[in-house]
Amino acid sequence: MIPFNIPPFVGPELEYVKQAVQNHKICGDGPFTKKCHAWLEKRFQAGKVLLTTSGTTALEMAAILCGLGPGDEVILPSFTFSSTATSVVLTGATPVFVDVRPDTMNLDETKIEDAVTDKTRAIIAVHYAGVACEMDTIMAIAKKHGLKVIEDAAQGVMSTYKGRALGTIGDFGCFSFHETKNYSMGEGGALLLRHKEDYEKAEILREKGTNRSVFLRGQVDKYTWVDYGSSYLPSDMNAAYLYAQLKAADAINENRLHIWNRYHEAFADLEEKGLVVRPTIPEECVHNAHMYYLKLKDLEERTAFIRHMRDCGVLCVFHYIPLHSAPAGLKFGRFHGEDVYTTADSDRLVRLPMFYGMEERDLNRVIDAARLFFH
Ligand SMILES: *Cc1c(COP(=O)(O)O)cnc(C)c1O
Repeated sequence: MIPFNIPPFVGPELEYVKQAVQNHKICGDGPFTKKCHAWLEKRFQAGKVLLTTSGTTALEMAAILCGLGPGDEVILPSFTFSSTATSVVLTGATPVFVDVRPDTMNLDETKIEDAVTDKTRAIIAVHYAGVACEMDTIMAIAKKHGLKVIEDAAQGVMSTYKGRALGTIGDFGCFSFHETKNYSMGEGGALLLRHKEDYEKAEILREKGTNRSVFLRGQVDKYTWVDYGSSYLPSDMNAAYLYAQLKAADAINENRLHIWNRYHEAFADLEEKGLVVRPTIPEECVHNAHMYYLKLKDLEERTAFIRHMRDCGVLCVFHYIPLHSAPAGLKFGRFHGEDVYTTADSDRLVRLPMFYGMEERDLNRVIDAARLFFH
């Protein structure tokens, strides 16, 4: 069986994790965490980056730092992972779902403004498949209405929009380093902060409501409880694993793009014949080959395709059940406007195996099996 995903591993991870253990520094904010922070800040020209225990907790921190609370509304796509919405719901605010555009499956920027009310406080832009949302338009709408922008760049590490790294354009950016993402630490993520006035608040929030970071920098002489908070910092052992991946980020990115491009070329004629729809990468976006998906005719054809691929020894998956129609979505949120593409296109979308180090032989097997289905 060709698996759908294999967690990325480049080699030095084990040595780095061993070093973390030998440093006698396995809790958070140790040497490897600091190395990751520095690497991420420099590479993406981010104001400040803080590793978190997951992409989910990075989103939660961003929602709290936006000051969201009961009565507030946040605009986001329904075609996304549950975490995008749970981060809003945990603050007591209401997720307001808006339709996606079919070419990128990202929030349709032309439908956002109609969903803005006097309760709207923020927009969450999810960069699906590592392909950027139309950020200039989204930032302009946010500015006009005084809204915060959170980028859910869980899938967008190393992608850019008009030359700027995803996660650094909005007020807050959220990365995921889950094992299904391009760069991993098992479970983990990062929060990217654009504004200096958020730095200290974010550090306090991440360190159980204490000013420990300020204390460790010698800026205050007491370390004490100063505000609300939780524990959002990952172990330095996890950061050690991630640091090995970040140092190999370009090699991992190139390898994934190679696989993506091979798929894309292999299915070009099927698209010409009208049998599938391939992903679109807008001109202003440089993507990171987070995933390769095809859109088929409908749900029935997709079910048959996944079964066919499994019979050929290839594991393909689909996602997402649109959040607005999920049990929790019905309870906590609402859809604004017409659902033209969210449900219809999520029913047709199938993801092909995509992971760092995928063998050429396996790649060819996936392509051949998929083409056979349309024969
Ligand atoms: C993976 C993912 C998350 C959650 O990240 P975790 O690290 O698994 O918590 C959030 N949003 C999107 C769009 C994701 O793909």
